[in-house]
Amino acid sequence: MTRVISSLEFMDAVKNKPTLNFIEAIIDADLAEGKNEGKVHTRFPPEPNGYLHIGHAKSICLNFGLAKKYNGLCNLRFDDTNPLTEEVEYIESIKNDIRWLGFGWEKREYYASDYFDTLFDYAVRLIKKGKAYVCALKAEEVNTMRGAPDKPGKESPYRNRSVEENMDLFARMRNGEFPDGSCTLRAKIDMTSPNIHLRDPIMYRIIHASHHRTGNKWCIYPTYDFTHGQSDSIEKITHSICTLEFEVHRTLYDWYIKELELFPPKQYEFARLNLTYTVLSKRKLIELVEGGYVSGWDDPRLPTITGLRRRGYTPEGIRNFCEHIGVTKRETVIDIEMLEYFIRDDLNKRANRVMAVINPLRVILTNYPEDQLEEMEAVNNPEDQGAGTRKVPFSRVIYIERDDFNENPSKDFFRLAPGREVRLRYSYIIKYENVVKDEKTGEIKELHCSFDPESKSGMAGSKRKVKGVIHWVSVKQAISADVRLYDRLFAKPFPDEADEGKDFKSNLNPDSLKVKTCYIEPSVQGTKSLTHYQFERVGYFCVDNDSTEEKPVFNRTVTLKDSWQKKKQ
Ligand code: ATP
Ligand code: MG
Repeated sequence: MTRVISSLEFMDAVKNKPTLNFIEAIIDADLAEGKNEGKVHTRFPPEPNGYLHIGHAKSICLNFGLAKKYNGLCNLRFDDTNPLTEEVEYIESIKNDIRWLGFGWEKREYYASDYFDTLFDYAVRLIKKGKAYVCALKAEEVNTMRGAPDKPGKESPYRNRSVEENMDLFARMRNGEFPDGSCTLRAKIDMTSPNIHLRDPIMYRIIHASHHRTGNKWCIYPTYDFTHGQSDSIEKITHSICTLEFEVHRTLYDWYIKELELFPPKQYEFARLNLTYTVLSKRKLIELVEGGYVSGWDDPRLPTITGLRRRGYTPEGIRNFCEHIGVTKRETVIDIEMLEYFIRDDLNKRANRVMAVINPLRVILTNYPEDQLEEMEAVNNPEDQGAGTRKVPFSRVIYIERDDFNENPSKDFFRLAPGREVRLRYSYIIKYENVVKDEKTGEIKELHCSFDPESKSGMAGSKRKVKGVIHWVSVKQAISADVRLYDRLFAKPFPDEADEGKDFKSNLNPDSLKVKTCYIEPSVQGTKSLTHYQFERVGYFCVDNDSTEEKPVFNRTVTLKDSWQKKKQ
């Protein structure tokens, strides 16, 4: 079973500055030995067959981050070898997401499809060396004859064709003489190798499909395995960093490079990011989007970069998270609270505070003049002096949070209750007078309170201290907005562990989105989408794309405290 990094372990990790990861240690040693003429050249190689997710962010931060740290370069390369699953929409979204995360690639935007001619020449070179052959076995036959790790495979009856015959057949494959699936070009390596990937792997397959960049020029396409290593080599990548599942492919990549006598990039593998309550596989994310389980690729509950952005996550928060979780070779699952911690930590520094009431209780200040209006001065961000102050309107009728009043309070309840006083943030101290209830249901309809005119914040008389401070909004000036209260998309920490006969979708959390009407102070009127706020005492929110002047919409990014801090309270 994979190990879950717990919150406590994690808090230690946060306290400690991140140390050198194993790839940095390798690069340091390479530089000390003068390898690669002292150069560091990495790449980020997405397949344009889906949107990027937080796992990709780890790889982006690592590859672009290393280039930055070592004064090197990082290419963006689309590994676009499969015309059936790739779309231009994905390419655009990938570029946007990388830029948004804070990285750039100057003019180094490459496509594996740019190398199709070169790769074709490489294939011909291998045929001429007697190292590749055209095989007419069907896909299933290739699979069964490949054997298993503990069972040697069987050689294809086409394996010993002459070079001439192979040259002729490969040319005819290219010219479109054969239908899809009728034959492949395979490398002639070793059908008994303990490494399955060396058992005559497929280099080219026939796909009569138009490619988003090369159009109808090709009807044969190289496999990912015949493309990836050579593309790295063509781009003179010094440190080719990928996730652990490619470790077993490395010997094959090295075999192609050696047989073709090309520049040899060195490949290093690290453990991919896994998060609790999250699926990070493009195939599953596509299923959620296409099946209508979420509203689209940018649904704020998805772990896609575009979803996280709409949710209100910041590039800085995501980068800090990626830096602190480190880079190792050990498969782990990271508690999603760690990601939330870094987002909260970043928003604390940059989000302006405003007051907003989500579960309103009407309060009438009986001794406050009917048509009086005051403006209270409020601090925008105590973490950032430069953020200044703003004016918040105050009047006789206000909303407070329903939870901030308790008719039968326990000893440790310091907010409003019969006989009690409380301070309204940036404003007066008010005192409970009586409660008005619905005669039939007994539900509390409103409170009557009095205010102490001498107690205004910032005034001489304001020194008087009471234990509780609560937030409020003036009913008349408040803006009503929709707030989308997001929770985890999955109800289980390991969504893939589904009951028998079911799949990960059966673990979706039915309460992952609740929409409520909320009342917010008027200063938020008209702010543009993605503006971050801290609703004091409630959580971090940001303005959604759907927001309009008439109907503002806010997404809850994260709550104010994580659950382990709550438990300690
Ligand atoms: P998925 O498994 O989600 O479908 P993928 O690995 O097929 O993704 P690619 O477009 O091939 O997606 O990924 C581009 C790069 O991002 C690769 O180098 C891949 O190793 C890396 N990557 C993908 N998922 C993760 C992850 N969860 N953590 C770290 N790196 C990842
Ligand atoms: Mg992949």
